[in-house]
Amino acid sequence: MDPTRLCNELINTVRSFHGSGLSTGTSGNASVRSEAGFIITPTGVDYDDLQSESLVEMDLNGTVVNGALKPSSEWRFHRAIYTSRPETNAVVHVHSPYATGIACTRKGIPAFHYMIALAGGDCIRCAEYATFGTEALSDNALAALQDRKACLLANHGQIAVGGDLQEALTLAEAVENLAQQYWISTVFGEPELLDADEMRVNLEKFRHYGEQ
Ligand code: 13P
Ligand code: ZN
Repeated sequence: MDPTRLCNELINTVRSFHGSGLSTGTSGNASVRSEAGFIITPTGVDYDDLQSESLVEMDLNGTVVNGALKPSSEWRFHRAIYTSRPETNAVVHVHSPYATGIACTRKGIPAFHYMIALAGGDCIRCAEYATFGTEALSDNALAALQDRKACLLANHGQIAVGGDLQEALTLAEAVENLAQQYWISTVFGEPELLDADEMRVNLEKFRHYGEQ
């Protein structure tokens, strides 16, 4: 895709974090696959101040090939996802309140609702804790994303991936919504979980959901 369009889409994606309550301040980051590797947001720059020139392009070895600013401190897990998941073209990482609150218990979200299938399986895993910006966090995130399109990050936030930025953003919003619903369900007691067979049915139905 045209690099200018990719940059505009990336800027619009991270700018939407504030309005939708997905992240505050400079928390979170996003990237999109490009011809050379991927284009990622710079570290620590307010989303409102972002210009196309502030974005950073890296190759899949983790070398900056375009841009004057430093890439997001989380470039390692973005790179690892593009390297190991050929179907993924966009990565969104946010510290959304409900998903992050649950991630602070270092537990994932079980199949309390059929829409957990949106993330690709019968639960949304929580990656083991590692310091932000490290290779260890990248390894842990990749393991939690195995056969999934989203995961929580212990004591940190969530990651959602997709075929394009809109897909990844929509999934991050859905994960946050599910996290909120899960929390509400626990207020009323222990939620009844859907079993593996039922989740297999839901996953299959989701493959064709919305087809006219
Ligand atoms: P960056 O500003 O470096 O992208 O960091 C934000 C963040 O969420 C780190 O996990
Ligand atoms: Zn973060």
